[in-house]
Amino acid sequence: MLKFLNKVGQYTKDAVQAAKYIGQGMSVTFDHMRRRPITVQYPYEKLIPSERFRGRIHFEFDKCISCEVCVRVCPINLPVVDWTFNSEMKKKELKSYSIDFGVCIFCGNCVEYCPTNALSMTEEYDLSTFDRHELNFDSIALGRMPTKVTDDPMVKPIRELAYLPKGVTEGHEVPHTAKRAGLRPEEIAEAISENK
Ligand code: SF4
Ligand code: SF4
Repeated sequence: MLKFLNKVGQYTKDAVQAAKYIGQGMSVTFDHMRRRPITVQYPYEKLIPSERFRGRIHFEFDKCISCEVCVRVCPINLPVVDWTFNSEMKKKELKSYSIDFGVCIFCGNCVEYCPTNALSMTEEYDLSTFDRHELNFDSIALGRMPTKVTDDPMVKPIRELAYLPKGVTEGHEVPHTAKRAGLRPEEIAEAISENK
């Protein structure tokens, strides 16, 4: 009899414990059900990248002086600069330039150190392809003007956290006129110059 009662006691304990765990799990579920969705319906909706976003690199062929600084500062010596020496002009002539975005880590060093600002970072981040070799961009592909999320009529731009008004944590349905929480870099520079 005592053995039976012990078994019933243990069973009840286990049942209570199981109910407690189910309750904990369901409380998380119900908590999430009360929240607004924060997912973005990519590619129909896209987040507006923040300032200084390091996306696909843009290259201006005419500005490049073939100095190869970008190669030396790159952690993986990635940019391929092909040039010839023009003995009449006594200067280098750029033949081709390429960056393989399948290998690039988007550190921005090449952009930072290029002496002629031939390189710049764009806000493009849709770089996926079926073949990794297609990510090796030549000077023509690098020279293509970047597309902006806000200029694409097929896409609904969603404001990222950095662009949201104070207290708002979700980018959907925020009117574009709503004031963003932080200051833009030019506003910070203006405030600093005013305080001097
Ligand atoms: S650092 Fe700038 S100018 Fe020099 S090779 Fe690279 S892209 Fe051209
Ligand atoms: S962003 Fe960084 S890794 Fe990519 S090419 Fe420039 S220096 Fe190299």
